[in-house]
Amino acid sequence: MMLLSAVLVAAFQTGSLPVQTVVRDQSRPAATASRTTTAKSAPQSRAGTGVAHRAIVDAGHGGVDPGAPIQGLRLNEKDITLQLALKLGAALKREGIDVVYTRTRDTLIARADRGRIANDAEGDVFISIHVNAANPGWKKPQAARGFETYFLGVAKTEDSRRVEEMEEESARFERPATATANDPLSFILSDMMQNEHLRESSDFAEIVQRQLRRIHPGPDRGVKQAGFTVLVSAFMPAILVEVGFGTNADEARYLASSAKQDAMAAAIASATREYLERHERRIGAGGAGRDD
Ligand SMILES: [Zn+2]
Repeated sequence: MMLLSAVLVAAFQTGSLPVQTVVRDQSRPAATASRTTTAKSAPQSRAGTGVAHRAIVDAGHGGVDPGAPIQGLRLNEKDITLQLALKLGAALKREGIDVVYTRTRDTLIARADRGRIANDAEGDVFISIHVNAANPGWKKPQAARGFETYFLGVAKTEDSRRVEEMEEESARFERPATATANDPLSFILSDMMQNEHLRESSDFAEIVQRQLRRIHPGPDRGVKQAGFTVLVSAFMPAILVEVGFGTNADEARYLASSAKQDAMAAAIASATREYLERHERRIGAGGAGRDD
């Protein structure tokens, strides 16, 4: 009972109940500089509109949670995700989009807390960056490569379930007290709220794949669904991008290259702007704002 009210209060405080989402862009007050969120960008001079779109940039893993190893390099997934996330944030700012990071240094943030940061910051979109790893049991694990983008859903293929299991392994680094997403009630409530955004998340994921295809050697592994806690906990259009396989030597070098990271960051930022513009037109076109 206590828990239910706590979750509901938290939900109301984040302003993310579904009924509010349609009008939020118009009604949301301009950001203030007093937010305590990690490394918030300064919101001044936003083209005089008073309202800028805000992207939450989430570098996967961190601290004691290294993520997947990066083949042949003294790097782990957590290093690549942070480098790329910072570049993505800079690229988004160049696109005129406000940015809040879930982390800007090598530290562990529990997965549910990443969503909480996003909700507190009233993000318009949530972008989580990860690096894939082949299953050692595959016939040629070192050959697997390519990029894929996830939005929330039940993992439908063996491959999606593999990625979900791999990413959810972060749970073992988190203190049980912070792992509230495993609580059935908060999961159901979170799931209901994220459901409201599934169509947008799917659109967003498609655009990210299309933009990445222009610069990434690939292959394009497509848009997929899985039940990542980090996506469940962010009540906004939310995606998780697996930018490549750290288990493939060529792709590992690609992922670690500063120039290639710049290209990936620019592609994802451009996709984000495209998605936000499209989404805005959809809201403006019809009262309900949910259909094309
Ligand atoms: Zn990961």
